[in-house]
Amino acid sequence: MAAQPLWPNSKSKGRQMTIQTVGVIGAGTMGNGIAQTCAVAGLQVVMVDISDAAVQKGLATVGASLDRLIKKEKITEADKAAALARIKGSTSYDDLKAAQLVIEAATENYELKLKILKQVDDLLAPEVLLASNTSSISITQLGAATKRADKFIGMHFFNPVPMMALVEVIRGLQTSDATHDAVKAMAEKLGKSPITVRNSPGFVVNRILVPMINEAFYVLAEGIASAQDIDDGMKLGCSHPIGPLALADMIGLDVCLAVMEVYLKDFGDSKYRPCPLLKEMVAAGHLGRKTGKGVYQY
Ligand code: NAD
Repeated sequence: MAAQPLWPNSKSKGRQMTIQTVGVIGAGTMGNGIAQTCAVAGLQVVMVDISDAAVQKGLATVGASLDRLIKKEKITEADKAAALARIKGSTSYDDLKAAQLVIEAATENYELKLKILKQVDDLLAPEVLLASNTSSISITQLGAATKRADKFIGMHFFNPVPMMALVEVIRGLQTSDATHDAVKAMAEKLGKSPITVRNSPGFVVNRILVPMINEAFYVLAEGIASAQDIDDGMKLGCSHPIGPLALADMIGLDVCLAVMEVYLKDFGDSKYRPCPLLKEMVAAGHLGRKTGKGVYQY
């Protein structure tokens, strides 16, 4: 893949940066998916996690995912070998110095992300772009904690990353046009379809999705229809691939509740009040697939 001009219009640096190497912080569900997607697109990748075991697990997940693509005849054995050869696993942030774009995809915890971002901000050359894959933390706030707020941006990939076409490219208040344009072009080079989003709780997709799920719990609680009929209704009437209640079981009812609580607090608007039935089910420990029981039994 051809290298991608970073700031084609930038005169201040006197040279054109190209993104040839992407750093990924975190080798978990999202990190290894991002690493795989970048490597398949022909980029060099440095994937960093806290332990060698986490790095190896991430690399093994990429290998298994590429095997599935071979089975589907989407890539060859040689493509797999080449993609894996492009990913360097590491437990040292120092190795991120090779990257022109670093994407943080570590555990969703504000204090942890702040610590990581400050550490890599000090380490990376000033022109390097820094992105976070956070689902819920303010991009503006994270960017402000770095010395490169203009070069800080949200890249919100969807799970599973190699399969899902969408990337929400989230502009913090300080994110520059050049950073936005470079990262959006970069997402397109990865074969994704990015949308541009202004920083706001839940961004676009989760802002709409989670209140819809919450509303499905109200409809269930009011006895308007059975869970199965609610889900069938949304599948058949709106062409959703999965009903909202089955989706809640997949996401985790606790996660859905936590997201509604954030919206209620951040927007200060009662339209985001969590459904009492959702709260009750979380209190009972009926969290969905992960506990074997949610709206449905597993
Ligand atoms: P995960 O738990 O699968 O992986 C997180 C990884 O980060 C772990 O391997 C952990 O060891 C690593 N980590 C923790 N501290 C670290 C540090 N100091 N340095 C480097 N690595 C560290 O989590 P995930 O589901 O991959 O989520 C990662 C991020 O992506 C979160 O911000 C989450 O909100 C976001 N996200 C998740 C999804 C999803 O569906 N899972 C979707 C979109 C965005």
